[in-house]
Amino acid sequence: MASNLQDIVIVGGGHNGLVAAAYLAQSGRSVTVLERLDHLGGAAVSAQAFEGIEARLSRYSYLVSLLPSAIIRDLGLEIRLERRRYSSYTPLPGTDHGLLVDNGDTAATRRSFESLGADFDAWQSFYERTAALARAVFPTVTEPLLRRSELRRMVGEADWTDFIERPIGEVIERSFHNDLVRGVVLTDALIGTFAPANDETLAANRCFLYHVIGGGTGDWDVPVGGMGAVTSALTSAARTAGATLVTGADVVSITPDGEVRYRLGTNEHSVHAGTVLSNVAPQVLSQLLGDSGSLGLSGMLGEQIAPVEGAQVKVNLLLRRLPRLRDASLDPAAAFGGTFHINEGYEQLERAFRAASARNIPTPLPAEIYCHSLTDPSILSPELSASGAQTLTVFGLHTPHRLVTSHNAADLRQLLERAVIDSLNSVLAEPIEPLLLTDAAGRPCIETKTTYDLELALGLPGGNIFHAPLSWPFAEDSADLGTPAARWGVATAHEKILICGAGAQRGGGVSGLGGHNAAMAVLEG
Ligand SMILES: Cc1cc2nc3c(=O)[nH]c(=O)nc-3n(C[C@H](O)[C@H](O)[C@H](O)COP(=O)(O)OP(=O)(O)OC[C@H]3O[C@@H](n4cnc5c(N)ncnc54)[C@H](O)[C@@H]3O)c2cc1C
Repeated sequence: MASNLQDIVIVGGGHNGLVAAAYLAQSGRSVTVLERLDHLGGAAVSAQAFEGIEARLSRYSYLVSLLPSAIIRDLGLEIRLERRRYSSYTPLPGTDHGLLVDNGDTAATRRSFESLGADFDAWQSFYERTAALARAVFPTVTEPLLRRSELRRMVGEADWTDFIERPIGEVIERSFHNDLVRGVVLTDALIGTFAPANDETLAANRCFLYHVIGGGTGDWDVPVGGMGAVTSALTSAARTAGATLVTGADVVSITPDGEVRYRLGTNEHSVHAGTVLSNVAPQVLSQLLGDSGSLGLSGMLGEQIAPVEGAQVKVNLLLRRLPRLRDASLDPAAAFGGTFHINEGYEQLERAFRAASARNIPTPLPAEIYCHSLTDPSILSPELSASGAQTLTVFGLHTPHRLVTSHNAADLRQLLERAVIDSLNSVLAEPIEPLLLTDAAGRPCIETKTTYDLELALGLPGGNIFHAPLSWPFAEDSADLGTPAARWGVATAHEKILICGAGAQRGGGVSGLGGHNAAMAVLEG
């Protein structure tokens, strides 16, 4: 068994591991990244998902909001993020009209609200509040943690109470009367998070917060070239800085004193690290440490950890053209240019939560769609693009991992795919299936990933897209922030092992924050 010594070994080559590798190699540390799969990027990758079809879809994550421009600048990343003109379109179920939020035309947006009897001024003032929250909170996420009382002072009492302390449903219900508008607002609290609107655990609030603070504006942008382009830029930054990136390296154990064992092909290797950075989920780290009983985490990461599960189903489709809408006066390119909400009224979301709590697949399934190729056709071959083909990405809500216990995994995938198609068809003027292109083997171009698939492919516990429940972006007033790792929100119970992935305190999403903050803790130590 070969063995060597490195300053830093990073377990997992997701985008966060690459961010950490690039920062630390740039500062002169010897860095090795060990990735189990045959490619880097984890959940931030593009793939040619359909045999013989030249379309490279963002297979899992697809929009970028939380990646700070400071990381892009520091690492010299050549990443282009495209802003979308349309924020969202939401058909009113059972009718041929809906709500269009067009950032490029305030008057048209106001008319759209009025046509539903909804209050546009309430919408504007609500999002002025979240914008203020974003301006206060986002600059802090690339700094050592503030304490609760410090951030509270910066945010102000009213916003702190409404967004951080009381269940998110309360401020939504107080601010809006229209069910559809309430639902559109609530969806940001439910991405990958299984919770009701009035969630006393505040998991929905944490999810909402991370969805409205990105970049200090809360905008969600399209990565040109797909999510794989983000990972390519990070890979090249890490390599150029001198990091060694090893794929096909399945880490099988880690010891608290920094020994990492991994399998590469048929051989077992061992490497000793001054510091081990864990890009895998906290629960996976715990298993690698042989800590089956506890998660081996300390401080804020050790706070009340519920069983980890995701709650979404992701479906990628490739269509001959965009489908026709029930509202014939609306251009499908406008409706699909932003987030297209399907059956996501407030009551519908609550009903779906109750159904899934009883281990039933919600009918209709709440979901949201976006079309990457409208904003960035570069992910399609020129021929495909010229033919009018478009990609659709569906993210279905309230499909928690616990559904696996009442269905077998393959059946569940089929049932969820069917539920997504039925939900989508219920708001379109024509069924979607005939619009699907077929691959080289004549199969329809549709790919469905359940929580079970994500657990298997990426090692996400229970298919949780954030590795673990999201945590607040601040430390409690009583927290011990005595070490750099604690101050940066990346500590574990073991001094030599830090979290550098989505499971770090401010790590969820394609943000690079887990990697950045772990690297800062190492450099400060
Ligand atoms: C379907 C889906 C949609 C999403 N949509 C969005 C979105 O639009 N925008 C957004 O911001 N976020 C989104 N997310 C969340 C976001 O993608 C993740 O939170 C983020 O990519 C996590 O990055 P990471 O580097 O921390 O970890 P990961 O990407 O999970 O990478 C961890 C890596 O560790 C490797 N690994 C696991 N076990 C081992 C082992 N034993 N040995 C070696 N390597 C190992 C894995 O193979 C993987 O490559 C989505 C996620 C999913 C799954």
